[in-house]
Amino acid sequence: DGQRLLRTAGGRAGKERLMNDVKINIWNPEMECMSRRDTEALQLERLKALVDYCDRNVAFYHKRLSEAGVTADKIKTLSDVQYIPYTTKADLRDTYPFGMFSVPQKQLVRIHASSGTTGKPIVSGYTQGDVDVWTEMMARTLSAAGGGADDIVQVSYGYGLFTGGLGAHQGAGKLGATVIPMSSGNTQRQINMLRAMGSTMLCCTPSYALLIGETVRDKGIDPESLRVRIGIFGAEPWTEDMRRRIEEKMGIDALNVYGLSEVMGPGVAMECMAKNGMHIWEDHFLPEVIGENGESLPYGEQGDLTFTTLTKHGMPLLRYRTHDLCTLIDEPCPCGRTHVRMGRVMGRTDDMLIIRGVNVFPSQIEHALLQVKGIEPHYHIVVDRQGTLDTIEVQVELSPNLMSDTIKDLETLEKKIVNSLASHALIHASVKLCQPGTLSRSEGKAVRVTDKRKL
Ligand code: ADP
Ligand code: ZN
Repeated sequence: DGQRLLRTAGGRAGKERLMNDVKINIWNPEMECMSRRDTEALQLERLKALVDYCDRNVAFYHKRLSEAGVTADKIKTLSDVQYIPYTTKADLRDTYPFGMFSVPQKQLVRIHASSGTTGKPIVSGYTQGDVDVWTEMMARTLSAAGGGADDIVQVSYGYGLFTGGLGAHQGAGKLGATVIPMSSGNTQRQINMLRAMGSTMLCCTPSYALLIGETVRDKGIDPESLRVRIGIFGAEPWTEDMRRRIEEKMGIDALNVYGLSEVMGPGVAMECMAKNGMHIWEDHFLPEVIGENGESLPYGEQGDLTFTTLTKHGMPLLRYRTHDLCTLIDEPCPCGRTHVRMGRVMGRTDDMLIIRGVNVFPSQIEHALLQVKGIEPHYHIVVDRQGTLDTIEVQVELSPNLMSDTIKDLETLEKKIVNSLASHALIHASVKLCQPGTLSRSEGKAVRVTDKRKL
């Protein structure tokens, strides 16, 4: 069937095959291509063990589980997970710093923290086993993007408490690739290294990739002269339209990676070369999508992505509500992996803007903007209130190569954008066209919104 075995750098037997002429690397075929039935049996076994483990080792969970009357032996099928109470971000903040840890400090080998995008940071503790699993998940992730020992991986996610940098670093090391631990920032130096080292893979946020790509052009460097062929981009919402723009500008395949520090870090889910949703590494994470009334939704319906960490030992989580909105896709994937995929994250529930009663996410605004020719994928959203009415202004940059700049043409362009926002994002926004290069750029997670109503 066109598959052949190969030895990956880590010494494991991996599988390599072709899909639409694209080479498919599978790091751990035994797990990644397991039948649904075997995957679910493994998940059930691990779920029972986890409930027992949490009950015995975390006072917080002992209380929660006994209040709900849940014990490991009551879990007979995977759907019995629904009887386990949710864990929320508030629970993690309330028990800060050590309340969710299930091992004595001496067994922890690492601490990370969330970026604090939405409030007080949350810490996460790892045992050596947790770090090992994470490292394998990131090796799988890079491998799914076609990465291997021949690659030079430039890690331009921030290093430090943020999980992006070290997560990608560990995985690339396991893959046997050459790692360049750049961290984020100092864009000129990023480009010097891309050129001098011939980096083949770039790991960073999509918004930073845009900035790197733009700086490459500004320096008069032909992007084709760089050896980068794959981008592993994540840590913030981005649209399919943005993917296309980045791919065109940089001449690469741009793939989506998902993760969060509470659950592990990057590498909870990763797109394969089919570029149609991210496979959730289901032997370690049990995903659910939860509706507004707290009910578990079927595949294909959008809701709050929720994870149970089946194998974590430092800080296990039962049904953790991420607040990331997406759907789960269970249709078979041409790459041969059997793990379910998550669609693009539309945004966090906290990112939702309510403008005169209309709910809108920045990613919907991004989608609407990128339908229009003549503007760049750099934008900023300003929300305000005049009297009792909400107002929204979308600032977007003109393309530097825009052929005409007569007032009339600009007015026509502005109207097109207003119309696109009305039809694709259902909002009536005012549009401010900005000169190229004038909106702020991001080296990490982009901040898309200024909400003056809250200031
Ligand atoms: P924080 O919540 O403080 O930003 P993290 O730094 O751990 O914490 O970031 C994890 C969050 O980043 C996720 O919960 C999600 O909201 C966002 N995220 C990560 N990867 C993606 C992705 N590929 N698409 C959209 N959002 C993502
Ligand atoms: Zn796939």
